[in-house]
Amino acid sequence: MNTEIEKLRKQLPEWVKSSVPHSSTGKVASYIPELAKASHDALGITLLNTKGEFASAGSFQMCFTMQSISKVYTLILALMDNGEDIVFSKVGMEPTGDNFNSMLKLELVRPGIPFNPFINAGAIMVSSLIHGNSQKDKSERILQFFKELANNDNLKHDEDVFHSELESGHLNRSIAYFLKGNGVLDGDVEEVLKIYFCHCSILVNCADLARMALVLACDGVDPLTGKKLIPPRFVQIAKTFMTTCGMYNASGEFAIQVGLPAKSGVSGGVLALVPGRYGIGVIGPALNDKGNSQAGIELLETISQEMKWSIF
Ligand code: GLU
Repeated sequence: MNTEIEKLRKQLPEWVKSSVPHSSTGKVASYIPELAKASHDALGITLLNTKGEFASAGSFQMCFTMQSISKVYTLILALMDNGEDIVFSKVGMEPTGDNFNSMLKLELVRPGIPFNPFINAGAIMVSSLIHGNSQKDKSERILQFFKELANNDNLKHDEDVFHSELESGHLNRSIAYFLKGNGVLDGDVEEVLKIYFCHCSILVNCADLARMALVLACDGVDPLTGKKLIPPRFVQIAKTFMTTCGMYNASGEFAIQVGLPAKSGVSGGVLALVPGRYGIGVIGPALNDKGNSQAGIELLETISQEMKWSIF
């Protein structure tokens, strides 16, 4: 019998091959100097189902930093540490339609409270809510949580990317000081920034992302170990944000063309899931004008349409 995973294994190399040329019009992010070293035309993907069966193609073994994809799981950890009421007194629930690093609405509406946890202002706020005794302790707790979710004890920070962003992250620094100046960010600003840059710099490959996404696809349980890693309510919240704000200000278009909860990052990674069925990790460093992986989006569109996976 021809199962779905067999179909995926058979078709994926072809779909990757036809998506690669789309990267030609994209640009690798360079505002964090270390990210500019990524290979422009790489494209890789891993899909993982609830039985532990993989389908992978292209540069799926490539390592890259999670960047904004990490925001999904730091939000979850902040919710687990503090509960919904505290987290949502510090960060809103609405998409912005603005760039990820925009400060515009911080001043216009609800002064000082970022619109959602996936724009940088919101994610920096979320970083300040992680429990721990020191910056190192908090960053270590985040890494430990990610290791459990990826079922990979070898996850680590990319120190070069971390330091590159620590030195060049002037916009994020100004956002954090703005939040502090408005009296909504607690703690030492430089420490909060280190926590934020640190989780953005966690190194993964497509299989790690697929496993982390599979936990969300299965309402917080890792189906391969049976471990309950996240309360279902917090998975529901995370998946909703992924659908409304996960793909920057192209989230509406992605919902129409792909129709899966997803989160992308400036390194060109994309994490997506098919509820109850698949975790997906994609890497394609060349970004489109909205900051999403150019070829990666094309590939996800093809797969979702061919497999009829849209949740809508
Ligand atoms: N560390 C990156 C930044 O703050 C993450 C941005 C992203 O992936 O969207 O600029």
